[in-house]
Amino acid sequence: MSDEIKVFCPATIANISCGFDVLGVALDAVGDEMTVRKTSEKGIRITKIDGQELPMATLKNVAGVAGLAFLAASDYKGGFEIEIYKKIKAGSGIGSSAASSTGAVWAMNELLDKPFSTLELVQFSMEGERLASGVAHADNVAPALFGGFTLVRSYKPLDIIPIPSPNELYATIIHPQIEVKTSDSRKILKTTISLSDGIKQWGNVGGLIAALFTNDYDLIGRSLEDHIVEPIRSILIPAFDDVKKTAIQSGALGCGISGSGPSIFAFSKGLEIAEKVEQAMKEIYKNIGIDYDIHVSKVNLEGVRKI
Ligand code: ADP
Repeated sequence: MSDEIKVFCPATIANISCGFDVLGVALDAVGDEMTVRKTSEKGIRITKIDGQELPMATLKNVAGVAGLAFLAASDYKGGFEIEIYKKIKAGSGIGSSAASSTGAVWAMNELLDKPFSTLELVQFSMEGERLASGVAHADNVAPALFGGFTLVRSYKPLDIIPIPSPNELYATIIHPQIEVKTSDSRKILKTTISLSDGIKQWGNVGGLIAALFTNDYDLIGRSLEDHIVEPIRSILIPAFDDVKKTAIQSGALGCGISGSGPSIFAFSKGLEIAEKVEQAMKEIYKNIGIDYDIHVSKVNLEGVRKI
């Protein structure tokens, strides 16, 4: 068995409008890469981070913290070295921290011949999310590990349901170059909701799940509504309302905040519409002079993988 593995760790869209902290989906066109190596020395060492300024200290990097959770549960006597090649910007809202924490534990599990289940790997990765945002949420790490769409039905006990994805579903994701820290965008949320908002929200979650199972693109569009988080968080994102309006006018099924923002995602049926949406979204930020990154991606059905 090899002592080293290189992996692709996909970016992910969490929340998906109606599913705050419970829904997520993995992307194909954007992700980090990592090399993980077995060492005889115990513990986890981050030996290289390429592409971004991030902490190298094991306890300050999500890959290190998730890796330590893995080691604590394992009877393996050695340790691991990790090299991280960052392509997903931290704080962009497309699961930068989740990519590193899932890539680390998935790679370690492969190197030890899979002692842990995917669900157990989710639990180790959630410790990385706790470091990044203060909350051990699973809505990015679950799709990064399982692939496709996932629903976190319950946190205690952790129960994750993989959901199928319609074949022609594409995401367009634009990242205006302002940083919103997940921890900050959590602080502005209220901790209670009204019953009437709850009714609308769970109607939409049920609608979206049914639509993904039945390939009902119109129902996907109708279900991409968020009555609870988007009205508050969108205030932190420049021109959010214009981007959403223009995406839908260009043919998108729906549009919302990716994770905690500031990235905005739109889903479309087919690549042609997703690219039209891409052009329309770009125009908005060009006109107001805000730099951006933009990606068009199919759903990644596999999750983290060896490369
Ligand atoms: P995202 O939603 O894109 O994951 P977050 O704000 O949740 O962004 O996480 C980024 C935070 O996690 C930053 O404070 C960053 O310094 C910290 N962090 C620690 N290790 C990593 C890593 N390997 N990759 C990305 N972010 C990391």
